[in-house]
Amino acid sequence: MSAAKRLSRPVAPGSTIGILGGGQLGRMLALAAARLGLKAHVYCDEDDAPAFDVCHAHTFARYDDERSLAHFAGACEAITFEFENVPAQAASFVAERAPLNPGAGALALTQDRLAEKNFLVSLGLQTPAFTAVSSPEEARAAFGAIGAPAVLKTRRFGYDGKGQAKIASADGVMAAWTVFEDAPSILEAFVDFEFEASIIAARGQDGDFVAYDPPQNVHENHVLRRSRVPSPLSAAQVAQAKTIARRVADGLDYAGVLTVELFVTKDGALLVNEIAPRVHNSGHWTIDACLVSQFEQHIRAIAGWPLGSPERHADAVMENIIGEEAADWHKLAESCGALHLYGKKVRRTGRKMGHITRLGPKTAAR
Ligand code: AMP
Repeated sequence: MSAAKRLSRPVAPGSTIGILGGGQLGRMLALAAARLGLKAHVYCDEDDAPAFDVCHAHTFARYDDERSLAHFAGACEAITFEFENVPAQAASFVAERAPLNPGAGALALTQDRLAEKNFLVSLGLQTPAFTAVSSPEEARAAFGAIGAPAVLKTRRFGYDGKGQAKIASADGVMAAWTVFEDAPSILEAFVDFEFEASIIAARGQDGDFVAYDPPQNVHENHVLRRSRVPSPLSAAQVAQAKTIARRVADGLDYAGVLTVELFVTKDGALLVNEIAPRVHNSGHWTIDACLVSQFEQHIRAIAGWPLGSPERHADAVMENIIGEEAADWHKLAESCGALHLYGKKVRRTGRKMGHITRLGPKTAAR
């Protein structure tokens, strides 16, 4: 894997960092950059991007518009991205002009579920059983080997449950294969997990590493409902989760925040579901419950600054505000929590509109 370009010196306050993508993660990254005295330039192909409201400069252009990309890269001293489906071409193009972190190699790996799973296996990490499938015959044969229930996932462009289907029968595999329009996929064993967790960690340009306490995550309709820290993980499992994140980050020669999503099995094993090469929804509580949030940590890492303390000073429950729930913003504002609204004008079913974090006294120091 090609190593990402490193900065020759830290990006000084007053300078500009670039963010590819203008969603809520870009918005919170831009806010964190501003707090450190850095300016954010956000590039997005949607004109009402949530991050545009809070940044120093923005470019509204397509990801294949090389003139706009060159202008953007020329204005930035360091560049990052807030979503992993950034077209690889756009990532390589800007990476030739300014240091891009995480690098194009980490991005390419996490854009392909099969490459990502093979990489995890090569590190000796445990994942659900999986098989690559590239034809209906292979899908049927893989289902025969893995058994029911299984999950068919397209190799590319899946998120929040999109591009995946739970499979109960051989006919079900064929039906899902047709819906996915023959897209190269993996068939994975369905894990009857005890709960889900994630580990959010940062690696600096010098290889320094920090990790947050791993939250327990609850999904509804494939969308994160809430994250809670501390999680029910034992101290040994927390240490193991941090080791997993470190192996992944070192293996990718990574700079920035990354997230490893985990299934915690009933017998206590930690299986890696997937890697997100970015800040993560399950880490939003770090804004209000930690000394240095995941967003600030990411800005520090990509700007070549020292990493900050991931220490948690409170217990926290982060609840997403989804779709029509945002209509209750006044009531939410009255409730005792830190309210974050993303400025999205249109409320759609399943769309993340904001989140609220409720804090309590810190009960466990893991
Ligand atoms: P993913 O897009 O792979 O992160 O999957 C989204 C969600 O679907 C996960 O957070 C789980 O709740 C569920 N899921 C995905 N893969 C599996 C699996 N192999 N077994 C059980 N649940 C799964």
